[in-house]
Amino acid sequence: MLTFGLPKDSVFQDIPLGNHLSVRIEYNGAYLSRPYCVIHSTPQSIEFLVKYENGKMSQYLKQMKVGDYLEMTGPQGDFTYTKGKYDELLMIAGGTGIAPMIRILRHILADHSDRAITKLLYANKSDEIPFREELTRIHLNPVNRTQVTFVISTQNVKPEPLGGASPSVIQSDVISSEILKRVFPSLCNPSPFNSTQVLICGPPEMEMGIRGDLKRIGFNVEENCFTFTVKGSKGEVNQEANLLEEHKPKQAQENNLNQDKDQQQHTQNQEKEQAIKKPVEPQDCCGSCCPNCVYFQYLDQLSDYLKKTGSTEPIENTISDLNISPGLKAFLIMESKFKK
Ligand SMILES: Cc1cc2nc3c(=O)[nH]c(=O)nc-3n(C[C@H](O)[C@H](O)[C@H](O)COP(=O)(O)OP(=O)(O)OC[C@H]3O[C@@H](n4cnc5c(N)ncnc54)[C@H](O)[C@@H]3O)c2cc1C
Repeated sequence: MLTFGLPKDSVFQDIPLGNHLSVRIEYNGAYLSRPYCVIHSTPQSIEFLVKYENGKMSQYLKQMKVGDYLEMTGPQGDFTYTKGKYDELLMIAGGTGIAPMIRILRHILADHSDRAITKLLYANKSDEIPFREELTRIHLNPVNRTQVTFVISTQNVKPEPLGGASPSVIQSDVISSEILKRVFPSLCNPSPFNSTQVLICGPPEMEMGIRGDLKRIGFNVEENCFTFTVKGSKGEVNQEANLLEEHKPKQAQENNLNQDKDQQQHTQNQEKEQAIKKPVEPQDCCGSCCPNCVYFQYLDQLSDYLKKTGSTEPIENTISDLNISPGLKAFLIMESKFKK
């Protein structure tokens, strides 16, 4: 968890529940930005729950020391919790996907006039569950009207039955449709008088899988389900964040123009590239590995574009920068090798 102090009169004093901020750093002479959900926000500070992966931003955040500064933009996000809008809130989180959920939960529970029923299904790989104590306290407090269920994928975990006093613990590698139906019976039996909203936050594969399961169960995902991280759904990171991503700082571009001949040639190539329109990354991949996936068409357009612009840049580099799952990246790289 990282806490950042805010400057006086900061624009981030009132971050809507469920929104995220885009964190920006300079990385190898280019800007790199990544979104992070806000877990706690006061006029003086904000908190993030960050999983340190092997990626660029994770490594940068990991080496930060107390007193270091970080650039942020936002807030962004298409979901905001509004009191009275939902009778029942079904939250499904995986790992750090708990970030927006815990903030919304705390807010609802602090307001005794908010009558929304909240249920949380929280999946983790190990039984080191972030906020386990707090979530257990929330579950055990009868005033809270909140049910918490943990899903843990390690084998040596002690399962707790559904409906017991403690939060239930289910041992499973995935949140299956069976688990969804068992933990959230109202999904199969929606009341015409109650509005149920599902929120999902976790790795993109998990979000897409659960959306698919909910559709198969017959739940109206288009209207009543929000995914926080999957691109192309209502949870898409907004354009501003995408535009910031990994483009050269302006000053660096200006300096480049004054460099040697090779560099001028490079600049001319860049201009040529811009004249031939670069294909736009698809926004509507459903993630279910269709044989006619939109990313296959994109791959063809991209290799055509690189040929026309005379670029020597390996197509793998562009694929590596795409905002898709590591599995799909590996698959596209393999496809591009077959096409060569
Ligand atoms: C709306 C939204 C909200 C989010 N909120 C949060 C949040 O609250 N907390 C949070 O932790 N994350 C959150 N994320 C994810 C976050 O934005 C980043 O995507 C994540 O931190 C990884 O970024 P990165 O630059 O470290 O990884 P990237 O460099 O983008 O790498 C992507 C993946 O490839 C793997 N990888 C990269 N390089 C290597 C390597 N050399 N060896 C092996 N594997 C490698 C990484 O482990 C990572 O899984 C959110 C995402 C979205 C879209």
